[in-house]
Amino acid sequence: KNYSQADIRQMAKDENVRFLRLMFTDLFGIIKNVEVPISQLDKLLDNKLMFDGSSIDGFVRIEESDMYLYPDLSTWMVFPWGSEHGKVARIICEVYSNDRKPFVGDPRNNLIRVLQEMKDAGFTDFNIGPEPEFFLLKLDENGKPTTNLNDKGSYFDLAPVDLGENCRRDIVLELENMGFDVEASHHEVAPGQHEIDFKYADALTAADNIQTFKLVVKTVARKYNLHATFMPKPMDGINGSGMHLNMSLFNKEGNAFYDEKGDLQLSQNAYWFLGGLLKHARSYTAVCNPIVNSYKRLVPGYEAPVYVAWSGSNRSPLIRVPSSKGLSTRFEVRSVDPAANPYLAIASVLEAGLDGIRNKIEPEDSVDRNIYRMNIQERNEEHITDLPSTLHNALKEFQNDDVMRKALGDHIFQSFLEAKKLEWASYRQEVTQWERDQYLEMF
Ligand code: ADP
Ligand code: GLU
Ligand code: MG
Ligand code: MG
Repeated sequence: KNYSQADIRQMAKDENVRFLRLMFTDLFGIIKNVEVPISQLDKLLDNKLMFDGSSIDGFVRIEESDMYLYPDLSTWMVFPWGSEHGKVARIICEVYSNDRKPFVGDPRNNLIRVLQEMKDAGFTDFNIGPEPEFFLLKLDENGKPTTNLNDKGSYFDLAPVDLGENCRRDIVLELENMGFDVEASHHEVAPGQHEIDFKYADALTAADNIQTFKLVVKTVARKYNLHATFMPKPMDGINGSGMHLNMSLFNKEGNAFYDEKGDLQLSQNAYWFLGGLLKHARSYTAVCNPIVNSYKRLVPGYEAPVYVAWSGSNRSPLIRVPSSKGLSTRFEVRSVDPAANPYLAIASVLEAGLDGIRNKIEPEDSVDRNIYRMNIQERNEEHITDLPSTLHNALKEFQNDDVMRKALGDHIFQSFLEAKKLEWASYRQEVTQWERDQYLEMF
Protein backbone atom coordinates (compact mmCIF):
# COMPACT_ATOMS: atom_id res chain seq x y z
CA LYS A 1 0.00 0.00 0.00
CA ASN A 2 1.16 3.49 -0.71
CA TYR A 3 1.20 5.06 2.73
CA SER A 4 1.88 8.75 3.20
CA GLN A 5 3.95 10.07 6.08
CA ALA A 6 0.71 11.14 7.75
CA ASP A 7 -0.68 7.60 7.41
CA ILE A 8 2.39 6.19 9.10
CA ARG A 9 2.16 8.64 11.99
CA GLN A 10 -1.52 7.85 12.43
CA MET A 11 -1.05 4.07 12.32
CA ALA A 12 1.82 4.23 14.79
CA LYS A 13 -0.45 6.08 17.19
CA ASP A 14 -3.54 3.91 16.64
CA GLU A 15 -1.66 0.68 17.18
CA ASN A 16 0.43 1.85 20.11
CA VAL A 17 3.70 1.22 18.29
CA ARG A 18 6.66 1.93 20.58
CA PHE A 19 9.56 0.58 18.58
CA LEU A 20 10.51 0.72 14.93
CA ARG A 21 12.42 -2.14 13.51
CA LEU A 22 14.28 -0.93 10.46
CA MET A 23 15.15 -3.88 8.28
CA PHE A 24 17.53 -4.46 5.41
CA THR A 25 19.32 -7.53 4.11
CA ASP A 26 23.04 -8.17 3.79
CA LEU A 27 24.72 -9.98 0.90
CA PHE A 28 24.20 -13.37 2.47
CA GLY A 29 20.48 -12.96 2.92
CA ILE A 30 20.73 -12.27 6.64
CA ILE A 31 18.20 -9.76 7.90
CA LYS A 32 19.76 -6.80 9.66
CA ASN A 33 17.74 -4.85 12.15
CA VAL A 34 18.24 -1.43 13.57
CA GLU A 35 15.67 -0.94 16.30
CA VAL A 36 14.85 2.59 17.37
CA PRO A 37 12.21 3.99 19.70
CA ILE A 38 9.19 5.65 18.13
CA SER A 39 10.66 9.04 19.10
CA GLN A 40 12.95 8.64 16.07
CA LEU A 41 10.05 8.46 13.63
CA ASP A 42 10.41 12.04 12.34
CA LYS A 43 14.09 11.58 11.76
CA LEU A 44 13.41 8.37 9.89
CA LEU A 45 10.71 9.92 7.72
CA ASP A 46 13.12 12.76 6.86
CA ASN A 47 15.72 10.21 5.66
CA LYS A 48 18.10 11.35 8.37
CA LEU A 49 18.63 8.08 10.18
CA MET A 50 22.22 6.87 10.03
CA PHE A 51 23.99 3.63 10.83
CA ASP A 52 27.51 2.27 10.62
CA GLY A 53 27.79 0.25 7.40
CA SER A 54 31.27 -1.06 8.15
CA SER A 55 29.84 -3.34 10.81
CA ILE A 56 27.98 -5.29 8.14
CA ASP A 57 29.88 -8.12 6.41
CA GLY A 58 30.68 -7.45 2.78
CA PHE A 59 29.05 -4.04 2.82
CA VAL A 60 31.61 -1.22 2.81
CA ARG A 61 35.10 -0.26 3.87
CA ILE A 62 35.66 1.55 7.16
CA GLU A 63 36.34 4.90 5.52
CA GLU A 64 32.87 5.01 3.98
CA SER A 65 30.99 3.70 6.94
CA ASP A 66 28.30 6.33 7.47
CA MET A 67 25.17 5.20 5.71
CA TYR A 68 21.54 6.24 5.71
CA LEU A 69 18.37 4.20 5.96
CA TYR A 70 15.58 5.48 3.71
CA PRO A 71 12.29 3.90 4.73
CA ASP A 72 10.06 2.34 2.08
CA LEU A 73 6.76 3.45 3.57
CA SER A 74 4.79 0.86 1.62
CA THR A 75 6.42 -1.86 3.72
CA TRP A 76 4.96 -0.69 7.05
CA MET A 77 3.73 -3.68 9.03
CA VAL A 78 3.02 -4.11 12.73
CA PHE A 79 4.21 -7.34 14.33
CA PRO A 80 1.22 -9.02 15.95
CA TRP A 81 3.13 -9.99 19.06
CA GLY A 82 3.48 -7.06 21.38
CA SER A 83 4.17 -6.61 25.04
CA GLU A 84 2.81 -4.34 27.72
CA HIS A 85 5.46 -1.89 26.48
CA GLY A 86 3.67 -1.56 23.15
CA LYS A 87 4.13 -2.98 19.72
CA VAL A 88 6.95 -3.19 17.23
CA ALA A 89 6.51 -2.17 13.59
CA ARG A 90 8.82 -3.09 10.80
CA ILE A 91 9.80 -0.88 7.91
CA ILE A 92 12.08 -2.14 5.19
CA CYS A 93 14.69 0.40 4.24
CA GLU A 94 16.87 1.22 1.30
CA VAL A 95 20.49 1.78 2.18
CA TYR A 96 21.90 5.08 0.93
CA SER A 97 25.54 6.04 1.00
CA ASN A 98 27.05 9.13 2.51
CA ASP A 99 26.66 11.08 -0.72
CA ARG A 100 22.93 10.31 -0.71
CA LYS A 101 22.91 7.84 -3.55
CA PRO A 102 21.35 4.35 -3.41
CA PHE A 103 24.14 2.13 -2.11
CA VAL A 104 25.13 -0.33 -4.85
CA GLY A 105 26.02 -3.01 -2.30
CA ASP A 106 22.44 -3.21 -1.01
CA PRO A 107 20.80 -6.31 -2.55
CA ARG A 108 17.38 -4.68 -2.44
CA ASN A 109 18.57 -1.59 -4.31
CA ASN A 110 20.12 -3.93 -6.82
CA LEU A 111 16.83 -5.71 -7.41
CA ILE A 112 15.15 -2.34 -7.92
CA ARG A 113 17.78 -1.59 -10.56
CA VAL A 114 17.22 -4.87 -12.42
CA LEU A 115 13.45 -4.36 -12.26
CA GLN A 116 14.00 -1.04 -14.02
CA GLU A 117 15.78 -2.91 -16.83
CA MET A 118 12.71 -5.10 -17.09
CA LYS A 119 10.46 -2.04 -17.33
CA ASP A 120 12.71 -0.58 -20.03
CA ALA A 121 12.19 -3.83 -21.93
CA GLY A 122 8.43 -3.17 -21.94
CA PHE A 123 7.14 -5.20 -18.99
CA THR A 124 5.37 -3.92 -15.91
CA ASP A 125 5.91 -6.61 -13.27
CA PHE A 126 7.94 -9.68 -12.46
CA ASN A 127 5.64 -11.77 -10.28
CA ILE A 128 7.08 -14.24 -7.80
CA GLY A 129 5.29 -16.92 -5.81
CA PRO A 130 7.71 -18.64 -3.40
CA GLU A 131 7.23 -22.05 -1.80
CA PRO A 132 9.54 -22.03 1.22
CA GLU A 133 10.07 -25.29 3.11
CA PHE A 134 11.55 -25.65 6.58
CA PHE A 135 12.07 -28.09 9.44
CA LEU A 136 10.83 -27.73 12.99
CA LEU A 137 13.38 -29.17 15.40
CA LYS A 138 13.13 -29.80 19.12
CA LEU A 139 15.29 -27.81 21.50
CA ASP A 140 17.48 -29.41 24.13
CA GLU A 141 17.43 -28.44 27.79
CA ASN A 142 19.82 -25.55 27.04
CA GLY A 143 17.58 -24.18 24.33
CA LYS A 144 19.89 -25.33 21.53
CA PRO A 145 18.37 -26.89 18.43
CA THR A 146 18.76 -30.66 18.18
CA THR A 147 18.36 -32.87 15.16
CA ASN A 148 15.40 -34.59 16.79
CA LEU A 149 12.59 -34.30 14.34
CA ASN A 150 9.49 -33.05 15.91
CA ASP A 151 7.07 -35.57 14.44
CA LYS A 152 6.81 -38.61 12.25
CA GLY A 153 4.23 -37.16 9.87
CA SER A 154 4.50 -36.96 6.13
CA TYR A 155 2.98 -35.23 3.12
CA PHE A 156 -0.60 -34.08 3.71
CA ASP A 157 -0.72 -36.38 6.71
CA LEU A 158 -3.71 -36.07 8.95
CA ALA A 159 -1.68 -37.48 11.81
CA PRO A 160 -2.92 -36.75 15.31
CA VAL A 161 -2.49 -33.05 15.82
CA ASP A 162 0.94 -32.53 17.32
CA LEU A 163 3.19 -29.70 18.32
CA GLY A 164 4.34 -29.12 14.76
CA GLU A 165 0.85 -28.86 13.34
CA ASN A 166 -0.23 -26.45 16.04
CA CYS A 167 2.87 -24.41 15.58
CA ARG A 168 2.37 -24.21 11.82
CA ARG A 169 -1.24 -23.18 12.26
CA ASP A 170 -0.14 -20.44 14.61
CA ILE A 171 2.44 -19.27 12.08
CA VAL A 172 -0.24 -19.06 9.40
CA LEU A 173 -2.52 -17.05 11.70
CA GLU A 174 0.26 -14.61 12.56
CA LEU A 175 1.12 -14.21 8.89
CA GLU A 176 -2.50 -13.49 8.07
CA ASN A 177 -2.63 -10.94 10.87
CA MET A 178 0.26 -9.23 9.17
CA GLY A 179 -1.52 -9.11 5.83
CA PHE A 180 -0.03 -12.18 4.15
CA ASP A 181 -2.33 -14.01 1.77
CA VAL A 182 -1.50 -17.63 2.65
CA GLU A 183 -2.61 -19.95 -0.15
CA ALA A 184 -1.54 -23.29 1.27
CA SER A 185 0.21 -24.78 4.24
CA HIS A 186 1.00 -28.43 4.65
CA HIS A 187 3.30 -31.00 6.10
CA GLU A 188 6.06 -31.86 3.63
CA VAL A 189 7.45 -35.23 2.62
CA ALA A 190 10.08 -35.51 5.35
CA PRO A 191 9.24 -35.88 9.04
CA GLY A 192 9.29 -32.53 10.79
CA GLN A 193 9.19 -30.68 7.48
CA HIS A 194 6.64 -28.06 6.54
CA GLU A 195 5.73 -25.73 3.71
CA ILE A 196 3.72 -22.53 3.66
CA ASP A 197 2.89 -20.87 0.34
CA PHE A 198 1.73 -17.32 0.07
CA LYS A 199 0.22 -15.56 -2.89
CA TYR A 200 2.53 -14.25 -5.55
CA ALA A 201 3.43 -10.58 -5.60
CA ASP A 202 5.71 -8.30 -7.57
CA ALA A 203 9.35 -9.27 -7.15
CA LEU A 204 10.29 -6.62 -4.61
CA THR A 205 7.31 -7.28 -2.36
CA ALA A 206 7.83 -11.02 -2.70
CA ALA A 207 11.47 -10.75 -1.60
CA ASP A 208 10.48 -8.53 1.33
CA ASN A 209 7.79 -11.06 2.21
CA ILE A 210 10.24 -13.96 2.18
CA GLN A 211 12.46 -12.14 4.66
CA THR A 212 9.58 -11.27 6.96
CA PHE A 213 8.22 -14.79 6.60
CA LYS A 214 11.42 -16.33 7.92
CA LEU A 215 11.39 -14.01 10.89
CA VAL A 216 7.79 -14.86 11.75
CA VAL A 217 8.35 -18.61 11.36
CA LYS A 218 11.38 -18.55 13.65
CA THR A 219 9.69 -16.33 16.22
CA VAL A 220 6.52 -18.41 16.48
CA ALA A 221 8.50 -21.69 16.56
CA ARG A 222 10.37 -20.44 19.62
CA LYS A 223 7.09 -20.07 21.47
CA TYR A 224 6.56 -23.80 20.95
CA ASN A 225 10.08 -24.61 22.10
CA LEU A 226 11.01 -25.49 18.55
CA HIS A 227 13.71 -24.22 16.24
CA ALA A 228 12.71 -23.52 12.64
CA THR A 229 15.55 -24.05 10.21
CA PHE A 230 15.73 -23.03 6.57
CA MET A 231 19.01 -24.88 6.13
CA PRO A 232 18.69 -26.64 2.75
CA LYS A 233 19.70 -30.14 3.87
CA PRO A 234 19.75 -30.51 7.63
CA MET A 235 19.73 -34.33 7.55
CA ASP A 236 20.98 -36.78 4.99
CA GLY A 237 18.74 -39.63 3.92
CA ILE A 238 15.57 -37.54 3.85
CA ASN A 239 14.33 -34.64 1.67
CA GLY A 240 15.92 -31.26 2.02
CA SER A 241 14.17 -27.91 1.98
CA GLY A 242 13.70 -26.01 -1.24
CA MET A 243 12.18 -22.67 -2.00
CA HIS A 244 10.71 -23.15 -5.47
CA LEU A 245 10.16 -19.84 -7.20
CA ASN A 246 7.11 -19.49 -9.43
CA MET A 247 7.59 -16.62 -11.82
CA SER A 248 5.87 -14.71 -14.60
CA LEU A 249 6.31 -11.44 -16.47
CA PHE A 250 3.33 -9.15 -16.80
CA ASN A 251 2.77 -6.28 -19.21
CA LYS A 252 -0.10 -3.84 -19.62
CA GLU A 253 -2.23 -6.53 -21.22
CA GLY A 254 -1.73 -9.08 -18.44
CA ASN A 255 0.42 -12.19 -18.20
CA ALA A 256 3.06 -11.90 -20.94
CA PHE A 257 3.87 -15.62 -20.69
CA TYR A 258 0.37 -16.58 -21.74
CA ASP A 259 -0.69 -17.08 -25.32
CA GLU A 260 -3.88 -18.96 -25.94
CA LYS A 261 -2.61 -20.13 -29.31
CA GLY A 262 0.97 -20.96 -28.33
CA ASP A 263 2.43 -24.39 -27.71
CA LEU A 264 1.39 -25.33 -24.13
CA GLN A 265 -0.32 -21.91 -24.28
CA LEU A 266 3.04 -20.22 -23.75
CA SER A 267 3.98 -17.03 -25.61
CA GLN A 268 7.11 -16.46 -27.68
CA ASN A 269 8.48 -14.26 -24.88
CA ALA A 270 7.85 -17.09 -22.42
CA TYR A 271 9.89 -19.50 -24.56
CA TRP A 272 12.75 -17.03 -24.86
CA PHE A 273 12.66 -16.32 -21.12
CA LEU A 274 12.80 -20.07 -20.57
CA GLY A 275 15.74 -20.27 -22.99
CA GLY A 276 17.59 -17.74 -20.84
CA LEU A 277 16.69 -19.54 -17.61
CA LEU A 278 18.13 -22.77 -19.02
CA LYS A 279 21.21 -21.20 -20.58
CA HIS A 280 22.27 -19.48 -17.37
CA ALA A 281 21.04 -22.15 -14.95
CA ARG A 282 24.51 -23.37 -14.10
CA SER A 283 25.70 -19.87 -13.28
CA TYR A 284 22.77 -18.60 -11.18
CA THR A 285 23.03 -21.77 -9.11
CA ALA A 286 25.73 -20.07 -7.02
CA VAL A 287 23.23 -17.35 -6.14
CA CYS A 288 20.16 -19.54 -5.69
CA ASN A 289 22.07 -22.28 -3.83
CA PRO A 290 24.66 -20.17 -2.07
CA ILE A 291 26.07 -22.32 0.72
CA VAL A 292 28.17 -25.45 0.96
CA ASN A 293 25.20 -27.37 2.31
CA SER A 294 22.94 -26.39 -0.62
CA TYR A 295 24.68 -28.97 -2.80
CA LYS A 296 23.85 -31.83 -0.47
CA ARG A 297 20.22 -31.19 -1.38
CA LEU A 298 20.77 -31.18 -5.15
CA VAL A 299 21.23 -34.95 -5.38
CA PRO A 300 19.04 -37.65 -6.96
CA GLY A 301 16.24 -39.24 -5.00
CA TYR A 302 14.82 -36.42 -2.90
CA GLU A 303 12.60 -34.40 -5.26
CA ALA A 304 15.26 -31.76 -5.75
CA PRO A 305 16.59 -31.09 -9.26
CA VAL A 306 19.96 -32.36 -10.46
CA TYR A 307 19.74 -31.75 -14.22
CA VAL A 308 19.18 -28.71 -16.38
CA ALA A 309 15.95 -29.44 -18.22
CA TRP A 310 12.32 -28.40 -18.27
CA SER A 311 9.03 -30.19 -18.45
CA GLY A 312 5.35 -29.49 -18.84
CA SER A 313 4.38 -32.64 -17.03
CA ASN A 314 6.79 -34.03 -14.50
CA ARG A 315 8.46 -32.63 -11.42
CA SER A 316 11.96 -33.99 -11.73
CA PRO A 317 13.52 -31.27 -13.92
CA LEU A 318 14.88 -27.91 -12.93
CA ILE A 319 11.99 -25.99 -14.46
CA ARG A 320 8.38 -27.05 -14.46
CA VAL A 321 5.52 -25.44 -16.35
CA PRO A 322 2.46 -25.92 -14.13
CA SER A 323 -0.66 -26.76 -16.07
CA SER A 324 -2.81 -23.88 -14.82
CA LYS A 325 -2.86 -21.17 -17.46
CA GLY A 326 -4.19 -17.67 -18.08
CA LEU A 327 -3.19 -15.41 -15.20
CA SER A 328 -1.38 -18.33 -13.55
CA THR A 329 0.85 -19.13 -16.53
CA ARG A 330 4.26 -19.40 -14.94
CA PHE A 331 7.57 -21.20 -14.66
CA GLU A 332 8.51 -22.94 -11.45
CA VAL A 333 12.28 -22.93 -10.87
CA ARG A 334 12.85 -25.81 -8.46
CA SER A 335 16.54 -25.51 -7.64
CA VAL A 336 16.31 -22.43 -5.41
CA ASP A 337 16.67 -23.10 -1.69
CA PRO A 338 15.73 -20.97 1.30
CA ALA A 339 19.36 -20.11 2.13
CA ALA A 340 19.37 -17.89 -0.95
CA ASN A 341 19.24 -14.15 -0.56
CA PRO A 342 15.82 -13.60 -2.17
CA TYR A 343 16.75 -10.21 -3.63
CA LEU A 344 19.81 -11.63 -5.35
CA ALA A 345 18.16 -14.88 -6.40
CA ILE A 346 15.26 -13.05 -8.03
CA ALA A 347 17.59 -10.55 -9.73
CA SER A 348 19.69 -13.40 -11.14
CA VAL A 349 16.80 -15.40 -12.60
CA LEU A 350 15.20 -12.24 -13.98
CA GLU A 351 18.42 -11.16 -15.69
CA ALA A 352 18.84 -14.68 -17.10
CA GLY A 353 15.30 -14.62 -18.49
CA LEU A 354 15.66 -11.10 -19.91
CA ASP A 355 18.87 -12.19 -21.60
CA GLY A 356 16.84 -14.95 -23.23
CA ILE A 357 14.30 -12.41 -24.51
CA ARG A 358 16.95 -9.93 -25.73
CA ASN A 359 18.88 -12.59 -27.59
CA LYS A 360 15.90 -14.68 -28.64
CA ILE A 361 17.33 -17.81 -27.03
CA GLU A 362 15.25 -20.87 -27.94
CA PRO A 363 15.02 -23.50 -25.20
CA GLU A 364 15.84 -27.14 -25.84
CA ASP A 365 12.81 -29.41 -26.19
CA SER A 366 11.06 -30.38 -23.00
CA VAL A 367 11.93 -33.66 -21.35
CA ASP A 368 8.84 -35.51 -20.26
CA ARG A 369 10.47 -38.78 -19.24
CA ASN A 370 11.95 -39.42 -15.82
CA ILE A 371 15.48 -38.05 -16.19
CA TYR A 372 16.71 -40.09 -13.24
CA ARG A 373 16.08 -43.27 -15.21
CA MET A 374 18.13 -42.06 -18.21
CA ASN A 375 21.80 -42.93 -18.59
CA ILE A 376 24.53 -40.44 -19.50
CA GLN A 377 24.28 -41.22 -23.18
CA GLU A 378 20.54 -40.69 -23.27
CA ARG A 379 20.96 -37.45 -21.39
CA ASN A 380 23.62 -36.29 -23.82
CA GLU A 381 21.33 -37.00 -26.74
CA GLU A 382 18.73 -34.74 -25.18
CA HIS A 383 21.38 -32.09 -24.36
CA ILE A 384 20.68 -32.40 -20.65
CA THR A 385 23.53 -31.04 -18.51
CA ASP A 386 24.06 -31.37 -14.75
CA LEU A 387 23.64 -28.62 -12.21
CA PRO A 388 26.95 -27.87 -10.44
CA SER A 389 27.61 -30.47 -7.78
CA THR A 390 29.47 -28.27 -5.31
CA LEU A 391 29.67 -24.62 -4.35
CA HIS A 392 33.13 -24.60 -5.88
CA ASN A 393 31.86 -25.72 -9.29
CA ALA A 394 28.96 -23.33 -9.09
CA LEU A 395 31.29 -20.41 -8.42
CA LYS A 396 33.38 -21.27 -11.47
CA GLU A 397 30.28 -21.02 -13.65
CA PHE A 398 29.08 -17.88 -11.93
CA GLN A 399 32.42 -16.13 -12.26
CA ASN A 400 32.53 -16.62 -16.03
CA ASP A 401 29.05 -15.39 -16.83
CA ASP A 402 28.73 -11.70 -17.68
CA VAL A 403 24.99 -11.93 -17.32
CA MET A 404 25.51 -12.66 -13.62
CA ARG A 405 27.79 -9.65 -13.29
CA LYS A 406 25.02 -7.62 -14.86
CA ALA A 407 22.42 -9.18 -12.56
CA LEU A 408 24.28 -8.29 -9.38
CA GLY A 409 26.27 -5.25 -10.43
CA ASP A 410 30.08 -5.08 -10.07
CA HIS A 411 30.13 -4.38 -6.34
CA ILE A 412 27.89 -7.25 -5.24
CA PHE A 413 29.26 -9.63 -7.88
CA GLN A 414 32.81 -9.14 -6.61
CA SER A 415 32.03 -9.18 -2.87
CA PHE A 416 29.80 -12.22 -3.23
CA LEU A 417 32.43 -14.13 -5.18
CA GLU A 418 35.21 -13.34 -2.71
CA ALA A 419 33.13 -14.26 0.32
CA LYS A 420 31.91 -17.50 -1.18
CA LYS A 421 35.40 -18.54 -2.25
CA LEU A 422 36.50 -18.11 1.35
CA GLU A 423 33.56 -20.18 2.54
CA TRP A 424 34.53 -22.97 0.17
CA ALA A 425 38.20 -22.79 1.14
CA SER A 426 37.30 -23.13 4.79
CA TYR A 427 35.04 -26.12 4.15
CA ARG A 428 37.60 -27.79 1.89
CA GLN A 429 40.14 -27.97 4.68
CA GLU A 430 37.81 -29.65 7.12
CA VAL A 431 38.33 -33.36 7.76
CA THR A 432 34.91 -34.85 8.37
CA GLN A 433 33.64 -37.77 10.39
CA TRP A 434 32.60 -39.44 7.14
CA GLU A 435 36.24 -39.55 6.02
CA ARG A 436 37.46 -40.99 9.32
CA ASP A 437 34.71 -43.61 9.21
CA GLN A 438 35.68 -44.57 5.68
CA TYR A 439 39.45 -44.37 5.77
CA LEU A 440 40.96 -44.48 9.23
CA GLU A 441 41.03 -48.24 9.45
CA MET A 442 41.12 -48.97 5.73
CA PHE A 443 44.51 -47.31 5.16
P1 ADP B 1 2.88 -26.46 -6.68
O1 ADP B 1 2.15 -26.73 -7.97
O2 ADP B 1 4.36 -26.56 -6.81
O3 ADP B 1 2.34 -27.22 -5.51
P2 ADP B 1 1.61 -24.27 -5.40
O4 ADP B 1 0.22 -24.30 -5.95
O5 ADP B 1 1.88 -24.82 -4.04
O6 ADP B 1 2.58 -24.94 -6.45
O7 ADP B 1 2.16 -22.81 -5.41
C1 ADP B 1 1.93 -22.02 -6.44
C2 ADP B 1 2.58 -20.67 -6.21
O8 ADP B 1 2.61 -20.01 -7.48
C3 ADP B 1 1.81 -19.76 -5.27
O9 ADP B 1 2.70 -19.01 -4.49
C4 ADP B 1 1.05 -18.87 -6.26
O10 ADP B 1 0.68 -17.60 -5.72
C5 ADP B 1 2.08 -18.72 -7.34
N1 ADP B 1 1.57 -18.22 -8.62
C6 ADP B 1 0.36 -18.40 -9.20
N2 ADP B 1 0.27 -17.71 -10.35
C7 ADP B 1 1.46 -17.08 -10.53
C8 ADP B 1 2.01 -16.22 -11.53
N3 ADP B 1 1.32 -15.85 -12.60
N4 ADP B 1 3.27 -15.78 -11.35
C9 ADP B 1 3.98 -16.13 -10.29
N5 ADP B 1 3.54 -16.93 -9.32
C10 ADP B 1 2.29 -17.41 -9.43
N1 GLU C 1 11.59 -30.82 -0.69
C1 GLU C 1 11.77 -30.91 -2.12
C2 GLU C 1 12.99 -30.07 -2.54
O1 GLU C 1 13.99 -30.20 -1.97
C3 GLU C 1 10.55 -30.45 -2.90
C4 GLU C 1 9.28 -31.18 -2.61
C5 GLU C 1 8.12 -30.59 -3.40
O2 GLU C 1 7.98 -30.91 -4.60
O3 GLU C 1 7.40 -29.75 -2.84
O4 GLU C 1 12.97 -29.30 -3.47
MG1 MG D 1 7.06 -28.46 -1.40
MG1 MG E 1 6.46 -26.53 -6.04
